[in-house]
Amino acid sequence: MKGDAHIYSRLTAPNTSRLEVMLTSILGGPTLTYSSGLSAFHALLTYLNPKVVAIGKGYHGCHGVLEIYKKLTNCTLVDLSDEKSWDEAGLGKGDVVHLETPVNPTGQAFNVEEYAKRAHQRGAILTIDVTFAPPPLLEPFKWGADFVMHSGTKYFGGHSDMLCGVVAVKAGREKDYWGMFHERVFLGSVMGSLEGWLGVRSLRTLELRVTRQSENAEALVKFIDDAMRGELKGEDGEVAKKVVNKIVHASLQKDDMDWLKKQMPNGFGPVFSIWTKTDVAAKRLPSKLKLFHHATSLGGAESLIEWRSMSDAGVEGTLLRLSIGVENVEDLKHDLISGFKALVDEGSV
Ligand SMILES: *Cc1c(COP(=O)(O)O)cnc(C)c1O
Repeated sequence: MKGDAHIYSRLTAPNTSRLEVMLTSILGGPTLTYSSGLSAFHALLTYLNPKVVAIGKGYHGCHGVLEIYKKLTNCTLVDLSDEKSWDEAGLGKGDVVHLETPVNPTGQAFNVEEYAKRAHQRGAILTIDVTFAPPPLLEPFKWGADFVMHSGTKYFGGHSDMLCGVVAVKAGREKDYWGMFHERVFLGSVMGSLEGWLGVRSLRTLELRVTRQSENAEALVKFIDDAMRGELKGEDGEVAKKVVNKIVHASLQKDDMDWLKKQMPNGFGPVFSIWTKTDVAAKRLPSKLKLFHHATSLGGAESLIEWRSMSDAGVEGTLLRLSIGVENVEDLKHDLISGFKALVDEGSV
């Protein structure tokens, strides 16, 4: 790799360069790392310099980055789901369609191939945030993405102890890789060397962790969904049904399975969301659990639950986001049922 003489750490450094070599192989395109997921998104916008950006609901932090970008460039932001607004804003060559899938916080998946077509039809670029579907769950380049970003803080890190952002560039776009490499020197948003070392450690278990976490999530989602549909007899099913009002996860998108099974053949992701019957139940459930920690991060080896209103003002008070870890799934199920029971007993639902 050019620049492997390690002249100064804002250009390259041994640990982060090694991490990038590993990620390049895993992601299937030349990869750069950044100090955080949001700094990676900022670097991507700065490099592409679009006049119009289409973006959906998704992670609120990316909207914060876009607000800054808009302040500096006066760009137009349009709604990803409203193609008429793309045309009205003149979204075209050099502009950006930014897709997040599965989406934070709910875990709902979107069809990458379809958005790639819509973007490319207009000469625009498809950038994609696949933090919730790390390898081996989804290969975005295969479905038409031009630039892939991850908050490496989540699954690449995997141990809740580092910040990291990742941008991978489609093979054949090496010019863009070097363009972003050059700009990163002046943005200065490189990872620290210790974080790079932690990242190299983490990638050794990436496939093990992600596969297990996704399997665990799917099993828990099935359990809760079965309970809600009255298909789970006995007290466990009864309490789950009493507490949970709605559940969202890609594994439940039955009408989308034609494309979704192909897009995510190895699992539907380790994050899902539930909506409880009452606000107070959502607020109190985290404190009833013993294995799930109440915290806003996700992607670590341990399961987390978050009453989402605490960090995102734009969501319902009944929403809880669950990031499933590598624990034994029966233990996790037992923990959730105990929490549901406690809520029923105290009259929170
Ligand atoms: C966490 C997250 C980010 C931001 O990443 P940081 O590393 O916290 O800056 C971006 N997108 C998604 C989907 C995320 O979950």
